[in-house]
Amino acid sequence: MPLDKYRAKRDFTVSPEPVGAEARRAARPRKRFFCVQKHLASRLHYDLRLEHDGVLLSWAVPRGPSLDPADKRLAVHVEDHPIEYGEFEGIIPDGYGAGVVMVWDRGTWEPEVDDVDAALARGDLKLRLDGYKLKGSWALVRTRGWGGGRGASRAPAKDDGRSWLLIKHRDDWSGALDITEFAPMSVKSGGDFLDILTAELPAFWRSHREGRGPAGLDASLAQIVEKVEKHEGRSIEVPATAVPSRPVRKAKPARAPRRKPGTR
Ligand code: MN
Repeated sequence: MPLDKYRAKRDFTVSPEPVGAEARRAARPRKRFFCVQKHLASRLHYDLRLEHDGVLLSWAVPRGPSLDPADKRLAVHVEDHPIEYGEFEGIIPDGYGAGVVMVWDRGTWEPEVDDVDAALARGDLKLRLDGYKLKGSWALVRTRGWGGGRGASRAPAKDDGRSWLLIKHRDDWSGALDITEFAPMSVKSGGDFLDILTAELPAFWRSHREGRGPAGLDASLAQIVEKVEKHEGRSIEVPATAVPSRPVRKAKPARAPRRKPGTR
């Protein structure tokens, strides 16, 4: 079944991510949905998802897409996701992918090849994106893994077929602009990771305080808060009762206030 791998990795009693109906095949070819989800998990990465045959084909791009054709970005092919996942933005409180997901870009895509399945099997998919941030012609090209497979002196790279490169073709939409730096926010909510966390954490935290959710969730949520604050360089501003307790840090020794001469 197309979504078995996706479901096997997740505990839907904990995670608000969609379970996903069975693969939903469009009756007729039409413009297909695509999105890029910026995902602050154990590491920051960008998940490129392309609708195809009722699921979202998915690649995790550690450094995110680049508009510079010379700047090929590693894209690790991961399990298919349900169509409705493409609109998901929020907190994954624990378990697989724990962290915060942001809808960083979305729109439609079209293959620049006749047969998408054949292109995937071949490891060379040319496509056109029409999102808010990413547009024009791109390629996804399968590589032979980290070592690149070239050069006899190199140890043979483990070729599990999951390593691809995401490459921008030269066109009106390519250039030197660092798009992940230039446009870091959500196209769904307009916010950054901390805004998403701030909006969702209180409700989340309350429902889990009411006895739902596994043990250890406090620690997991606290870790997420720390990670997001560090990433965005600001602190969350919600009532203290609405955030999980955090590990106690050593406070700096308080300095005794110096008394000015002449005062009591
Ligand atoms: Mn991810």
